[in-house]
Amino acid sequence: MSVERVASFSAPAHVHTLVIGGGACGLTAALTARRMGRDVLVLERDAVPSGSTALSSGLIPAAGTRFQIARGVADGADLLTADILQKAKGRTDVAMAHAVASMSADAIHDLVDRHGVQFELVESFLYPGHSVARMHGTPNRTGQELMAMLVAAADNEGLDVLTNAVATTLFVTADHRICGVEVRRPGGARERIGCRALVLACSGFGGNQPLVGRHIPAIADALYFGHAGNQGDALRWGEALGAATADLSGYQGHGSVAHPHGVLITWALMMEGGVQVNAAGVRFANEHAGYSEQAEFVLSQPGGIAFNIYDERLHQLGMEFEDYRSAVKLGAIKSGDDAQALAYQLGVPGDALAKTLQHVDATAREGAADAFGRRFDPDKRLMPPYRGVRVTGTLFHTQGGLVVDRHAHVLRANGERFPNLFAGGGAARGLSGPEASGYLSGNGLLTAVTLGRAAGFSASSLN
Ligand SMILES: Cc1cc2nc3c(=O)[nH]c(=O)nc-3n(C[C@H](O)[C@H](O)[C@H](O)COP(=O)(O)OP(=O)(O)OC[C@H]3O[C@@H](n4cnc5c(N)ncnc54)[C@H](O)[C@@H]3O)c2cc1C
Repeated sequence: MSVERVASFSAPAHVHTLVIGGGACGLTAALTARRMGRDVLVLERDAVPSGSTALSSGLIPAAGTRFQIARGVADGADLLTADILQKAKGRTDVAMAHAVASMSADAIHDLVDRHGVQFELVESFLYPGHSVARMHGTPNRTGQELMAMLVAAADNEGLDVLTNAVATTLFVTADHRICGVEVRRPGGARERIGCRALVLACSGFGGNQPLVGRHIPAIADALYFGHAGNQGDALRWGEALGAATADLSGYQGHGSVAHPHGVLITWALMMEGGVQVNAAGVRFANEHAGYSEQAEFVLSQPGGIAFNIYDERLHQLGMEFEDYRSAVKLGAIKSGDDAQALAYQLGVPGDALAKTLQHVDATAREGAADAFGRRFDPDKRLMPPYRGVRVTGTLFHTQGGLVVDRHAHVLRANGERFPNLFAGGGAARGLSGPEASGYLSGNGLLTAVTLGRAAGFSASSLN
């Protein structure tokens, strides 16, 4: 990845808006710029656009949508902003958090009304830190389904998406204007494409182990569960261009990926009454603090392993999620009529697990808080027969990146805008601050679709 400084630039092909990356951010940006009448080209390194978006659960928080209003959910940009800031302990850009929250409902409505994405409000549980039901998901709650809908929208619009196209070099003039990009095609051929505006939607650096080791050493040895093609290209170009960067130590982790099956087990199980124990059958953290920070807690247990313990009621909740249904098919989910029987299936000490569940039940009956600060709900007590699954902690995606303003303009280190460079999603600084614990569920796709849409509008406004 490199940046070449040029006095002038010519290329056999030229488009108005060039977008690097065909995930949620890139396709949202491209669809928006296309709608504004611009000729747009998306460059995607893979043969089929997927990105981390296709690996995700596809759940996007938004405040004040008509889906919430129809269900009587009172929400708004101020409340979503407050939740984002509370989770990040105030260590993010307050104005950006408010700007993104304010754009969230329009972003969801556009995806539904203009691009045919079938969102519904997820009401069966709340993720940690969200005050009200505001997650919007496709019927099967998978990012694959979301991506399929975005790709179908791109097809319907006749949007040009060049696949097997790795952007390698940006060409920039002395006045910080990006004039074109070099692309590597299969077989090593190189092509140059000129542009009026460039949108960086090529996500973060989770797939680049040396970069993760430099910026987030605590999670560098963990399994990376995001898209392998996210190599930090936006960050590397941005640094070479003199862009401002922030929160490079921030990331979304997850403390619940079935191991060795490699399937995400929804955190809804924990939010609705489930617990995690280690190989000794003992709890070790407050599961309600958040799944992102739980990754490091799980990894610090013996063997980097934990076990999710829950019951039949929560098993049925899990069955709403396609990932969970796959885990069932793969045989990852174990069951037992009582704690001893489940412990045998999971290979943890039966007496210890029974004691843990007795203690959890006593705490739940009292509606009390435990030693980790988790408050158990008497209406959500775990009842035999029990279910359980062996899990590990993973890195999902990085949250640090290029500093952008509310219009998705990338900012230089001196605070000025690059005249025609935009970024969103994983390429841009997120809203979670410098730590994994600052990640409010959904911050990833939230900035992908809101800043992607903003980038599409801003790019298309350039003449
Ligand atoms: C298992 C999992 C579950 C998740 N669940 C959720 C969730 O429910 N809700 C949520 O909000 N977030 C979730 N996330 C995070 C979310 O997936 C990301 O924040 C989001 O997908 C980022 O979107 P994006 O468009 O920026 O990046 P991506 O979707 O990763 O797209 C980036 C694209 O850029 C391409 N690319 C990279 N470099 C180049 C290059 N040089 N040239 C050309 N193309 C390039 C990549 O191939 C990729 O297709 C989850 C993540 C994981 C891993």
